[in-house]
Amino acid sequence: MTSRFREIPSVNEVLRRQEVTELITRYSHQSVVEIVREQLASARRTVSQGGEPPGIESVAEEVADRAASRWKNWPETVINATGVILHTNLGRAPLSDESIEAASVAASGYSDLEFDLASGKRGSRQAHISQLVCEATGAEAALVVNNNASAVMLGLAAIATGKEVIVSRGEAVEIGGGFRIPDVLRQSGATLVEVGTTNRTYARDFEEAITENTGAILSVHASNFRVMGFTHAPTTSELVEVGDRNGVPVLHDLGSGCLLDTRPYGLAWEPRPQESIRDGVALGFFSGDKLLGGPQAGIIVGRRDYVNVVASHPLARAVRIDKMSMAALSATMLHYIRDEPTERVPIWRMISAPLDELTARASEWKEAAGAWADVVETRAAIGGGSLPGETIESVALRVNCNRVGISAEAVLTDLRQADEPIIARIEDDDVLLDVRTVLSSQDSSVKRALDCLNRGVAGHQSK
Ligand SMILES: *Cc1c(COP(=O)(O)O)cnc(C)c1O
Repeated sequence: MTSRFREIPSVNEVLRRQEVTELITRYSHQSVVEIVREQLASARRTVSQGGEPPGIESVAEEVADRAASRWKNWPETVINATGVILHTNLGRAPLSDESIEAASVAASGYSDLEFDLASGKRGSRQAHISQLVCEATGAEAALVVNNNASAVMLGLAAIATGKEVIVSRGEAVEIGGGFRIPDVLRQSGATLVEVGTTNRTYARDFEEAITENTGAILSVHASNFRVMGFTHAPTTSELVEVGDRNGVPVLHDLGSGCLLDTRPYGLAWEPRPQESIRDGVALGFFSGDKLLGGPQAGIIVGRRDYVNVVASHPLARAVRIDKMSMAALSATMLHYIRDEPTERVPIWRMISAPLDELTARASEWKEAAGAWADVVETRAAIGGGSLPGETIESVALRVNCNRVGISAEAVLTDLRQADEPIIARIEDDDVLLDVRTVLSSQDSSVKRALDCLNRGVAGHQSK
């Protein structure tokens, strides 16, 4: 046994191999030594379990493989053929060309981020963006932070610490990733007062719960689930009426910052920031990377006095947005001000793409995929905690795994290993590639991967 351990090459021997000396020219010596040590440790484990000691060639190759997979640029581009438009695991909203350009400008040099070019004095990072957000939403004032979770937390901490916050029982929910409204309230130093029942809450329930300790009424959009049947919730304007009568601000967590009417696309109504502002909320909160279609950001809109209180809270500095997201967000807001979101914002291009256009693209994919695939109707989802259960008509290429007798899992794996990995889904033991969520600039990559797959299956069938 001990002699077998002695057959394992030493660190220095491995470091002298050409594959490894090449690594040392590109990475720090110490990092390469570390990876060689890891590889040799794994070799020793193999031997201690009775396996063969690997030769020096294979150790050197594995060191090079380890380095290549660990020290690559990340994240890697993938093609989203899942049919879920805002896929949180795939990075939510892809940015418009203009937003990408703006982020790149902000990243690549110095900028007037907090500098006023006219006066030569210090400026505000918020001034420009809040102007655009106000124009797009009709709000009096706005503040942008790094995501909506922090926006809500900051808003509550600034407005309601040490006070009671009234929330409908049906809205004391978990948004996802452990972000639960009761916990957020506790963390921001406020006390939760639940009113109504899980399915029915009325404006009078809020009114009856108001005391001299009430700091705010909080309304949370049920963005990732739906209560159906015997339900009631007060409208935002009813809540504002109650708030106004009692001198209590209404805070509205909208979740998704959907500035467009979703109904013309066959989707349910999604509350919009501009409606919430019109209804008179003190503050509205929403995400930058859900239905707004921009970068990760949390946007706070509302009355100037309340926004000022929030902006001067110490937590505001802790959740500050970075310059690249700020730049991308300002370019995204401009698409709305120019009235061009369905032409320029990728997720709105996807949502509004007509079926015949999707069918034409799917037919091209089919040509690459060969006889064992066909074009089918399907339904795409919004996802990302927006419009739960809502789907839109879509078109997919179906890989008929059943008919060809190959496993759908194996096809998914093959697609993930394409040059540009493709993420698809399984339905009825077949693989579906939904066209709606694939950027048209990625069509050639999809066709290449399908062509490869086709050859693979042809080979498989001829066996
Ligand atoms: C998504 C969501 C959040 C969290 O927003 P992030 O931008 O992901 O931090 C908060 N509240 C609601 C209602 C949401 O839907």
